[in-house]
Amino acid sequence: LLGYIGIDTIIEQMRKKTMKTGFDFNIMVVGHSGLGKSTLVNTLFKSQVSRKSAGWGRDEKIPKTVDIKSVSHVIEEGGVKMKLTIVDTPGFGDQINNDNCWEPISKYINEQYEKFLKEEVNITRKKRIPDTRVHCCLYFISPTGHSLRQLDLEFMKRLREAGVQTASQEGAGDERHRVYPQKEFDDDMEDKSDNDKIRETMPFAVVGSDKEYQVNGKRVLGRKTAWGIVEVENPNHCEFAQLRDFLIRSHLQDLKEVTHNIHYETYRAKRLNENGG
Ligand code: GDP
Ligand code: MG
Repeated sequence: LLGYIGIDTIIEQMRKKTMKTGFDFNIMVVGHSGLGKSTLVNTLFKSQVSRKSAGWGRDEKIPKTVDIKSVSHVIEEGGVKMKLTIVDTPGFGDQINNDNCWEPISKYINEQYEKFLKEEVNITRKKRIPDTRVHCCLYFISPTGHSLRQLDLEFMKRLREAGVQTASQEGAGDERHRVYPQKEFDDDMEDKSDNDKIRETMPFAVVGSDKEYQVNGKRVLGRKTAWGIVEVENPNHCEFAQLRDFLIRSHLQDLKEVTHNIHYETYRAKRLNENGG
C-alpha cells in the first residue's frame, strides 16, 4: 500500500486542457458616462479593450436609452488564451429620468443565460458551449458623492433579482452583504479571511490611466495632478492593485463558478419549471 498513485497529476492535466481550450471571461461595466469605466478596463487589461468616450464638448451624443455594447478580444499570456468580453452600457444613469434604466441590462444578462440554456438542452450540443454569460458586473460610483444615489441602490437591488453579482458596495444597510463575494459562499476559514479583506476594502477607490510617467527611474502608469503623479499600481496611492488582484489573480475562476453554479442554475431551474408545468 505504499507508493505513488498519481492523483496530483490532475493539476497538470487541467493545466494542459486550459492551455488548449482557453477560457471565456465576461465583464459588464455600469455607471454614468465620464466616470472612467473604459479607461479602467483598458488599464486592467493593459490594452485598448474598451473604447474611451470622446469626452465633453465633442459631438458624441449620449444615447437616449441604455445601449448594450459588447466587444470581445483574445488576450494571451503565458500561453493561456482568454476571450475577454467587455459589456458596456452607455446611457446608464445619463437621462433626466433614469427609471427602469436597469431593464435593458437585466434583459441582456438573462438573454445570455437563455442562449446558454438553449445550447445545453440541444440534442446535438456543442462540445464546448460558448459562454457569453456576465461573470462580473463592475458598478461605478462617482468619487465626489458621499453616499450611494437612489439609482445606485435601486440598480443593485434589481440586478440581484436578475441573479447577478455586483462587485462594488457601500455600507448602505444590508446592501453591503449581498454583493460578491457573499459571506454565505465562504467555504472555510481561509476563504472567510481572504474575502473579509476584500469586503472591507469595497468599494474600491481606483484610478485608471493609459499614460506612463517616469517615477524613480521606472515607467509607471499614472495621472498627473497638481499634487504630483498618482501611480495607478501603487497601493499607497489607490486601490487599483487590490481590485486587479481580486478580479483577475484570485477570484476570476470563482466568479465563473458562482455564475454557473448559482446564478445560471437559478435561472435554469426556473425556466425548466416553467416548461414542465
Ligand atoms: P466612461 O464614459 O465611463 O467610459 O469614461 P472614460 O474612460 O471614457 O473616461 C472619461 C474621462 O475621464 C477621460 O477624459 C479620462 O481620461 C478621464 N478619466 C478616466 N479615469 C480617470 C481617473 O481615474 N481619474 C481621473 N481624474 N480621470 C479619469
Ligand atoms: Mg466608456
